[in-house]
Amino acid sequence: MVTRTRQPTIPITEIEHAAFCKPEDELPAKSLAEEMSANVRWQKISTDYLHMSAEELDQRIHVTREKLGESVTVLGHHYQREEIIKYVDFQGDSFLLSQEAANRPEADYIVFCGVHFMAETACILCADHQKVILPNITAGCSMADMAPMDDVDDAWEDLQSVLGDHGGIVPVTYMNSIAGIKALCGRNNGAVCTSSNAPAVMEWGYQNAERILFLPDQHLGRNTGLKLGLSTDDMVVWNPFKRFGGNTPEQLRNAKLILWQGHCAVHTRFTVKQIEVARERYPDVTVLVHPECTMETVQAADMNGSTEFIRKAINEAPAGSKWAVGTEISLVNRLALSNPDKTVFCLDPVTCPCSTMYRIHPAYLLWVLDGLLEGQVINQITVPDQIQQEAQVALNRMLALK
Ligand code: SF4
Repeated sequence: MVTRTRQPTIPITEIEHAAFCKPEDELPAKSLAEEMSANVRWQKISTDYLHMSAEELDQRIHVTREKLGESVTVLGHHYQREEIIKYVDFQGDSFLLSQEAANRPEADYIVFCGVHFMAETACILCADHQKVILPNITAGCSMADMAPMDDVDDAWEDLQSVLGDHGGIVPVTYMNSIAGIKALCGRNNGAVCTSSNAPAVMEWGYQNAERILFLPDQHLGRNTGLKLGLSTDDMVVWNPFKRFGGNTPEQLRNAKLILWQGHCAVHTRFTVKQIEVARERYPDVTVLVHPECTMETVQAADMNGSTEFIRKAINEAPAGSKWAVGTEISLVNRLALSNPDKTVFCLDPVTCPCSTMYRIHPAYLLWVLDGLLEGQVINQITVPDQIQQEAQVALNRMLALK
């Protein structure tokens, strides 16, 4: 039995999350120098890039990319701002992007416009000769930061000691987690999941053990458990700052699903009240939210699903339909623009982009591309070999379920 005392810490990215909440007309990118007034951590960058106008950045990114040719692929997550998405060769969710990196062996350099755990996953999946670059090294993810490796190792050790032979437990981690946690899943008969295949991965987990430790998003875990027919009584939350996660050994033995106490600061902004307001305004609206939202919000919505599910549902919806969407604002705005025959709007009246995704400013993109032109690899993301191999095992288990 392991007992530890630890001071609660809040990931810095979580504290910074409201930094980019702003009126919608102020959303377009400004010069990096102006954006740096937002109170978040930024990576230091040569002053040459700080005051470049949008036009100069645009022109130089095009020229540099042309010179680099096929040796570079630029990938962009759906939550990236429009000023970045226009340069990407491929746009997708975190897993699709990593697969795309692996599918482009001709590209020696993968410039990943997303957040740190995504670049790590690309690094795990792509070929040895490919180098993955994250344009701004401070683009982390507050949810992933809520499950640091030491805390997860401690929790896993505690769970083994408490559960012993009581039917076993497998770890399942959401893609939005650090490579070390994916590796822990790989070496302990667990798997990775995405927001689209979480139910299938959890079902697979229950074929192998009586319990699942689900990391790091309690909301995706809870919403998925409910989809599979579990009740909230079957679930406990693991608070890493408390002994046994804040549970008694008996509660842990009785639980079928142990939910790591993590969340997404973007998706937990969506509320039942916002859904009520949307329905009052448009009685025929369809409310579609991401399963990283709270259980109450997901249950009050008409539909829920991954970013790819949300895109498909709206893109394929009939003209004239109305959609209130609970996911990151950059994607919602892009869907509204590309579906002018439909009414598409964000549930949250306050415009709050994901503050970590938003740190990929075009100036950083140009900076790393210029570096490549000069033979310098800036911000390469690497994962130690053993972690890569074990994480790959957990990813392969997920892929085998498709
Ligand atoms: S939207 Fe949430 S889960 Fe996704 S990168 Fe931002 S903080 Fe992380």
